[in-house]
Order: sequence, then C-alpha cells, then structure tokens
Amino acid sequence: MLARLREKLWLRIQSESVYTDEALTELAQTVASSELRDMDLPPFSVRFSRRQNKRWGSCTVDGNSGTIRISAHLIGHPRWVIAQVLLHEMVHLRVGGHGAQFQALMRRSPDHERGQGYLEALETVERVGPQVAALFPFGEDDVQPELFAAADRAIDRAS
Ligand SMILES: [Zn+2]
Repeated sequence: MLARLREKLWLRIQSESVYTDEALTELAQTVASSELRDMDLPPFSVRFSRRQNKRWGSCTVDGNSGTIRISAHLIGHPRWVIAQVLLHEMVHLRVGGHGAQFQALMRRSPDHERGQGYLEALETVERVGPQVAALFPFGEDDVQPELFAAADRAIDRAS
C-alpha cells in the first residue's frame, strides 16, 4: 500500500515537477529566454537547497556572477510554481528589493498572480497546519468544538 502510494507520487513528481539541479537549471534557462530575454543577466548557477526552510529561494551576487538556491521543499510542486520562484530570484540578479521595477518584471509572467496565491497557501499549510495538528490532535471524524472554544478563551485572556 505504502509502496504503491510512493510509486504514484514518484511518477507524479517526475512528470509534473522538477527534482534535480540539472532540470532546475534547464527551467531557469527557459525563464531566462522567455520572461527575461531582454535582460542582460550575469552568469549564474542554480541548485536546490535542503537547508532553506524559511524562504522559497535566495539569490546572492558575487562580483559578476550569481548563485540561486531554491528550497528543496518545492520538490513535488508543479514546474510552473518553481518557475515563479526562479523568476523572482533571477530578477534579483539585476534588481534589488521588491519595488516597482521588480514588480513590473514579475508581472511579465502570466502565472505571476496564481503563483503568489499558491505560495501563500503553501506557506500557511506548512506553518499553520502542523501547529493546528499538534494543538488539536483530532481523529478523522472528530469534531471538538469545546477545544476550539477553550483556545478562543485562552487567546482572549492573552490579548
Ligand atoms: Zn525577493
């Protein structure tokens, strides 16, 4: 059962996601030659980082070359989502901060808005989900309104 699930998930990841540094680099080249084709990007390398837990990606520029790291948490998520995180970091190769110029470049992608929504939701699921599960260890069909009511009262007292 678990082996079958694992096999199905693996097939999905292979067909819909990006899971190697080579494939990630290829995807970055695709982004460079579409949304950023008129930008004179410096040489840069791209790889997955397993230590990157708080952010989806990072970009460091050293002299005239850049290093982009993408959180390994994104492995298994759709290619177009990973492409959005790549686009964000690749824009940072030339533009610091998230001002008007940065936003205009991001909006070149038709997936920009849904990408932001996807990542916001993912962040909520990854951060809030486990906290809720730890605080309210429900069974499958358990509804425990008294637990929520107790939590509400505790929050009221604290604030
Ligand atoms: Zn940024």
